[in-house]
Amino acid sequence: MLNGTTAQIREREALRINPAKTCQPIGAMYAALGIHGCMPHSHGSQGCCAYHRSQLTRHLKEPVVATTSSFTEGASVFGGLANLTTALENIFTIYKPEIVAVHTTCLSEVIGDDIPMIVERMRNEGKLKPEQLVMHTNTPSFKGSHITGFANQCESTVKYFSKSSGTPRNYVNIFPGWVDPADMREIKRLAKELGINFILFPDTSDVLDLPQTGHYQMYPDGGTTIEELRAMGDSFQTIALGTTCSTSAATLLEKKCNVASNVMEMPYGLSNTDNFINALRTAGNVTVPKSIEYERGRLIDMMSEMGQYFHDKKVALVGDPDQCIALAQFLVELDMIPSIVITGSPCRDFEAKIKAICAEKNPNVEARANSDQHFMHQWIKNNPVDVLIGNTYAKLVARAEGDIPFVRFGFPIMDRMGHRVFPTVGYMGAMRLMEKISDAMMDYSERNGPDEYCELIQ
Ligand code: SF4
Repeated sequence: MLNGTTAQIREREALRINPAKTCQPIGAMYAALGIHGCMPHSHGSQGCCAYHRSQLTRHLKEPVVATTSSFTEGASVFGGLANLTTALENIFTIYKPEIVAVHTTCLSEVIGDDIPMIVERMRNEGKLKPEQLVMHTNTPSFKGSHITGFANQCESTVKYFSKSSGTPRNYVNIFPGWVDPADMREIKRLAKELGINFILFPDTSDVLDLPQTGHYQMYPDGGTTIEELRAMGDSFQTIALGTTCSTSAATLLEKKCNVASNVMEMPYGLSNTDNFINALRTAGNVTVPKSIEYERGRLIDMMSEMGQYFHDKKVALVGDPDQCIALAQFLVELDMIPSIVITGSPCRDFEAKIKAICAEKNPNVEARANSDQHFMHQWIKNNPVDVLIGNTYAKLVARAEGDIPFVRFGFPIMDRMGHRVFPTVGYMGAMRLMEKISDAMMDYSERNGPDEYCELIQ
């Protein structure tokens, strides 16, 4: 499908082809679903909401609920006050959520709808009861990306709910950043094994990875509760994972409630997981249990036994900024060579961080934020790689370039299902990533190499 891509690279300022990002509201919707009893509400046209829901549903293989203000020509001209008023009344009457999280779209942003004013007006007119909670997040999709929307939703949640009661609690807030429900479950497991008190926000586990029970639950048992969101202001520290996703919420919480923030890279791979475990250990003043030490030991064992298969293999990596930065670090730990690392999202220090990570292994690494998959494809044509890591869209690049060994990682993955249950964070996740990368490379060489590459024992 991408066989017509040429090798000649032309620098582009105002055009993205096969963008490596998607709409802001998708991120806001995903983060809102990590609040217990929350109905995400898209203030715009039905088409936006349908697209955002379907992208999340395709990735998560779960029905993703969200409502919409259903703008038509009238709202586009006169504003969305009437639509949002009717929508909120209907939502609380019919779907009975604990909270509605309103986010905007391009259209309502261009119109300039003032959501807090509309909600306040409804309260003054008695159309919203005090217990019917509504929050809002601005998510104009003509700037930023789904990652910006996720970060904005997290920040708004802190703004609306977290407060300091004056009585500090021996709790740590953990902001996981944009990871899959299986990863959130893994982060909780690690924190529980260490025996610390924590609040995870957002938490989409047990919301978007439900077992089949035969019964549909519009508001599943999981998600961070409103009480927990409020209590985040009484915790003594926030461990915020992923600078792009989690910094703004952690910084606001520190400013608003004096909760110290500890922002770090996402726990992908060995050293990033070490840093996360160490932060939890220090915060909880606890000793790391043998069970986690053994997990780490098994990872080190696997890395030392499999080193020859990873050594000096060139990798192209495309994804979201926090994921790419943390994964690039792991690739270097595996003795691989990140050749090109790109994200479609804006990220101020992306290039500097990737360059620093690759300084020894590959000082010439091509690192770009605000880039696209077309650029990556052209670059690969000029500089072939051994492995390509990215979301489902990148498989078209792998196919066009002679079936490059391809590892699905990030968002969205619409054509496989493993990410739904198997985490990629932590030591266990690192082993899973190693398995996926080595399987892809070995499968390729066994399929395409000479007979001696197809040894029974590798
Ligand atoms: S880019 Fe804007 S108009 Fe298009 S789907 Fe996203 S939010 Fe809607």
